[in-house]
Amino acid sequence: LEEAEKSDHRMLGKKLDLFHFQEESPGMVFWHDKGWTVFNLIKDFITRYLRKNSYKIINTPQILDKSLWKKSGHLDKFGDLIFDVGSEKKEFAIKPMNCPGHIQVFNQGLKSYKDLPLKYAEFGVVHRNEPSGTLHGLLRIRAFTQDDAHIFCTADQIEEEISLLINDIKNIYNNFGFDDLKIELSTRPDKRVGTDEIWDKAESSLKKALTSNNINFSENPGDGAFYGPKIDFSLKDSLSRVWQLGTIQLDFSMPGRLDASFIDTDGNKDVPVMIHRAILGSLERFVGILIEHYSGNLPLWLSPTQVVVLNITDKHKDYAFTINSKLLESGYRAECDLSNEKVGYKIRNHAMTRVPYMVIIGDKELEEQSVSVRDRSGKDLGNMNIKNFINLLSKDKK
Ligand code: ZN
Repeated sequence: LEEAEKSDHRMLGKKLDLFHFQEESPGMVFWHDKGWTVFNLIKDFITRYLRKNSYKIINTPQILDKSLWKKSGHLDKFGDLIFDVGSEKKEFAIKPMNCPGHIQVFNQGLKSYKDLPLKYAEFGVVHRNEPSGTLHGLLRIRAFTQDDAHIFCTADQIEEEISLLINDIKNIYNNFGFDDLKIELSTRPDKRVGTDEIWDKAESSLKKALTSNNINFSENPGDGAFYGPKIDFSLKDSLSRVWQLGTIQLDFSMPGRLDASFIDTDGNKDVPVMIHRAILGSLERFVGILIEHYSGNLPLWLSPTQVVVLNITDKHKDYAFTINSKLLESGYRAECDLSNEKVGYKIRNHAMTRVPYMVIIGDKELEEQSVSVRDRSGKDLGNMNIKNFINLLSKDKK
């Protein structure tokens, strides 16, 4: 419990100057520069993955006419969670999900089987009117950014797409330092749409994709969505808490409801299968999970400030400035602290805000044109030239 308190992301968010919340906007984040840097580093990482894997990155409106939400079925299922907006006597809703918007993009222009699989990704900002009593820091909020995507494909393409996704999701979690995963397959519920034939095919595709990748998974019979079976991904953090993050859901319903179609190999009109998938889920929540998992000691590549350069007296200012510029030029997020505080105080202060490396500049360093390096645990890494320090940074992959 004590460990959990020390790593509480709300406490660390304040201490590390990452974000804050205010009564005027319950469940919505005011990101400060450092927190927004972490958010964008995660977003950039996912963007590189999307580009490498031929996703089309799109962006769809926040506000859409209610008639569309009626047609998609969201108004009936999620009505309580939808924020309403009115304009010129028309009723609109702030989007709680991105799926209907993606189908609008798919529906532009005629699609053929040759266009499939077609993958649309969006860092979609969604709003859900969760009861105020259930809100909890970044972990449960009302406005969040999903790393969302919808893959339009044929029933024959499901297995391969799912297989690729399972591996990618595992790799992405590993990159963020999580390797203890829990994977669950949920199959057909009593109330469902789609023929038994298509459910048979979909469920066996998901199972085959899991077993061919040697994935240990548990089954939740009857727990799938009414529109299709799904695979959910959870991970265990450093304090053994389990977080549900990613999901892969097959959908045989929404594309048809919203008039999506493609021309198949025989020249007939057919309805594509849609795979809803999110890897990290909510980026805001993922930042919260990372902060708790690492107790604020984010790995070098995710640290908002990676190096602070400290001078001992005014005499060392110019050289400290030169070192800082060299670090910035090499692509590191560096800052100078040229304040008149004692150097011991400055070191403690920056270690407390979890800056991975501190560079100290005094008489010796100025004379030898070198730097003295410490890490945030207080360890003295000794004296070296700037080239060797940059080399040390490039090798820090923790
Ligand atoms: Zn979706």
